[in-house]
Formats: sequence, structure tokens, C-alpha cells
Amino acid sequence: MYDVIIIGAGVVGAHIARALSRYRLQVLLLDKAADVGEGTTKANTAIVHAGYDAKPGTNKARFNLAGNALFETVCGELDVEFDRCGTYVVGVGEEDRATLQSLYQRGKENGVPGLELISGEEMRRREPGLTEQTVGALFAPTGGIVDPFALCYAAAENAVENGVHLLLETEVHGFLRVNGDIAGVRTNRGPFRSRWVVIAAGLWADDLMRAAGLEGFTITPRKGEYFVLDREARAEVRNVLFPCPTPVSKGILVTPTIHGNVMLGPTAEDIGDKENLSTTAEGLNEVMTGALRLMPNLSPRWIIRSFTGLRAAGSTGDFVIEIPDQPKGLLVLAGIESPGLTASPALAEHVVSMLGEAGLPLDRRPDYNPIRRGIPRFSHLSREEQEALIAADERYGRVICRCETVTEGEIVAACHGPIPARTYDALKRRTRIGTGRCQGAFDTPLVLEIMAREYGISPLELTKRGGASFMLARPTKEVAG
Ligand SMILES: Cc1cc2nc3c(=O)[nH]c(=O)nc-3n(C[C@H](O)[C@H](O)[C@H](O)COP(=O)(O)OP(=O)(O)OC[C@H]3O[C@@H](n4cnc5c(N)ncnc54)[C@H](O)[C@@H]3O)c2cc1C
Repeated sequence: MYDVIIIGAGVVGAHIARALSRYRLQVLLLDKAADVGEGTTKANTAIVHAGYDAKPGTNKARFNLAGNALFETVCGELDVEFDRCGTYVVGVGEEDRATLQSLYQRGKENGVPGLELISGEEMRRREPGLTEQTVGALFAPTGGIVDPFALCYAAAENAVENGVHLLLETEVHGFLRVNGDIAGVRTNRGPFRSRWVVIAAGLWADDLMRAAGLEGFTITPRKGEYFVLDREARAEVRNVLFPCPTPVSKGILVTPTIHGNVMLGPTAEDIGDKENLSTTAEGLNEVMTGALRLMPNLSPRWIIRSFTGLRAAGSTGDFVIEIPDQPKGLLVLAGIESPGLTASPALAEHVVSMLGEAGLPLDRRPDYNPIRRGIPRFSHLSREEQEALIAADERYGRVICRCETVTEGEIVAACHGPIPARTYDALKRRTRIGTGRCQGAFDTPLVLEIMAREYGISPLELTKRGGASFMLARPTKEVAG
């Protein structure tokens, strides 16, 4: 019997689990995927938004601001890379001047600190590669960039270290009921009983709401396609650069990533399929065209990867955060599209107070530890620190991923972390193997060998992201049955 079951271990569910782990509660965090953060959390722009974009008075505006303010504390406690580098919205052409002005006003109304309108000349001084058509910009000093994967798995790890139970590859199919009230969940691993169920299921929140008897709210997946550029491009791109937004999206950005790459995107296209993570020639073409409109000198030669993320665009246009009157025992988070990553730590605090007000006893655990430390990052260390690490464990002296300088020691540590990286993609998110220029061409066989050794399994059993996504082809005889 749990006090709270959280459906969905994306960045929102992970932070809720961590926030609840401060109290003497039995908490279960469930996800149908083989790792935490396999939903929208793994594929987004990774911007910590300043908060000038959302309509004043909305949940998006409120939790964007509140979440943004927590990033130093949260990332400090969780050992997550974060840079409050500031962000720019760049006006290109006279017609953008009015948009910059209205974003500035909106930001002021939302309470965003430090906003500044700057001239085109000043903007081009700060970012020399920008188009000559630049007429001005809005500078938001509180914006930043973060490691979105770590923001999720670090919160989930800290929750697990503080006693939260995590079950992966566990899909919720429906709810247990007692006198019509929610009393737990039905899953592929059987039923789990609880006093409260929190829906934090991203794109699938509306399906679960319907399963609970809550009609009327729908989620439309809104596709966003991206390019990732090689580190070489970083020399050309100094800042986070948004174009002026469109009615449905913030437009095609050009932005550095916290890991030293550059990212271009996303597009915004409503689609019908919640699993469709394909990229398209048209979408990627739109990404490049949009990026070149801001930075005409970007070279397609720098592209090393493309990917797609799906926004959970809700029918109300705002974050839904509610405890419905009926059925009792349910708390719903839905339509958590952008700025959901930014808002996640603040949403988690709000969920805890809602549950507390609704009667969940919140007795602090004296042994709660908010501090989580990640695995050593060999490439981030000084020469002396690297030598000390190798002296303590020689596996840190064997570089497996040459592009990103990831060692065998880091891979082994990630295989045995609080939430072991059991799939290739989970390991990639924890260590950055395979994310460089060669995209794993050199290191994948070595990585699979190490993973198989550490888990005591055959490399044939290793998957990219769980299920049947095997990394290696099965012997033909076996496939033929
Ligand atoms: C293109 C794009 C760009 C974005 N850019 C930004 C940005 O720059 N800054 C920002 O702040 N936000 C951004 N966002 C938004 C942000 O990524 C999301 O708001 C955030 O990741 C949502 O997290 P989540 O935990 O709600 O959802 P998810 O990460 O999708 O997690 C939901 C989890 O629920 C699980 N689940 C679903 N159904 C079930 C079930 N039945 N049983 C068990 N598990 C289930 C899924 O497997 C998944 O892991 C962007 C989003 C997109 C798509």
C-alpha cells in the first residue's frame, strides 16, 4: 500500500517524487519506458525560460517564473549542469520591433527581472554572426541552458536514494477503485494500491484522465524537429537566440547546448500520433531555413544529428494542475508543454502543497538528503584530478568515446548508479557516449562489450531503449525461430 503513486518518470514526475521523498511517505514512481526521462523530457530545446512568453495570469507564467528561480538551488543540490547565460529574442526586419516591445511588456507584467530592449547594433556586437537585418533584441538575463536529461535522472536518483520506489517498464492500464474513488493503478506488473495517484504522464495524460472518467481534455502532439551541430559550430554561436515567436511556437532557435554543441530548431506541426518521433525532409529543411534567417553563416557541414520531440499541447492552452472533485484520490498534471522543463521543480513543490492541503500527512523525514552527486566527468577534471582518478581506478584511464572523452570508469559507474543505465540510450544520457562527431561509430562495440560484462548478460540482449530495440542483429536461425 503506497501513499502516492506517480504515473510518469519524466522531469515532472521525477521532481514530484523527489519533493515527496522529504516526508515519511511510501511513494512509487512508475514509467512504461525502460529508463526515466524517455518521453518529452529527452527531446526538447533545454532552455530555462525567463518567463516573458506566457500569457500573464496563466499557470504557465506562474510556474515558469517560480521554476526558473529554483535552478541554482536544484542544480546545485543535484549536480546538474546549468548556465544562467541569459537569452535573446532577435528582431529581424522592421515588423519585429512591435513584437519585441510586446514581449518586453508581457515579461514586465509577468514579473521577469532584468529585461532589456537593445538596439540591432548592440545585438550584433554581442553576436557578430547575426543577420544584417537585425533591428533589435529583447535580452532576458535570467534565461539559461540546462542538461535536460540530468535534470530528470538526477531528481529521480535523489528520490530513490531517499526511499522512493521506482518501477520501469511498468505501464498503467487503468485504475483500482473503491466506491468510485481512485485506490491505485492496474499495470502490466499487476495492481498497486495507493491513497493518491498523480498523473504526470506527458503526452498520455489525457488518455489516463479519460480512463479515470475525466472527459473533455485532449492532448495533440505537436512535433518539433531539430538539428544538432558539432562542437566546431560553438565558436560561431555565442548566445541563446530566439527569433520572434509565432502564434503556436517560439520559432526556430539557434542555441548553444550545455554540452558544447549548437542546436537548431524546433519546427511546430500538429500530428495525430503520440509515438511519431520521425524527422522529415520538409521539417529539417524548415529548421535550416529558419536558422539561416538568423545566422546566415551556419554551415550544414556541422550537422551531426537530427531528432524530434513531441509537445503535449493541451486543449486548454495552459498547464492543467488539479485535484478533481470526482473521482477522489487523483491529482492531474496535463498539457505540460513548454515551459514544462523550467517549471518542473516549482510544479513539484506545488503538487506537494496541494496534496498536503488535501489531507496527505507531511511529516518531515530527519534523514532526507537533498544532495546527489553524479558520476565523475573525466573530461571536466583538471590534469591532477584525472591522474588521481586513474590511480584509484585504472578504468578511468581507458578512453572509450574519443569524441566526448568518456572513459570506461564512467560507463561502469553509470551501469551501477542508483538508477542503472540498462539501455544504450540511458547510458548515452548519463555519460555522453556516442553523442560526438562520430555518433558512436567508433565506440559502440566497446560500449556493448562493457555493458554486457557489467550486467553479466549477452550483448545480444542489450537494447537501445528497451522492448525489442536490440542493438545487435539476432542470429538468422533465431529470427527464423
Ligand atoms: C520541441 C519541444 C521543445 C521544448 N523546449 C522546452 C524548453 O526549451 N524549455 C522548457 O522549459 N520546456 C521545453 N519543452 C517542454 C518540456 O520538454 C516538457 O514540458 C517536459 O519535458 C514535460 O515533462 P513531463 O514529465 O510532463 O513529460 P514526459 O517527459 O513526456 O514524461 C511523461 C512520462 O510518462 C510516461 N507514461 C505515459 N503514460 C504512461 C502509462 N500509462 N504508464 C506508465 N508511464 C506512462 C512516459 O513514458 C513518460 O516517460 C519542450 C518540449 C518540446 C517537445
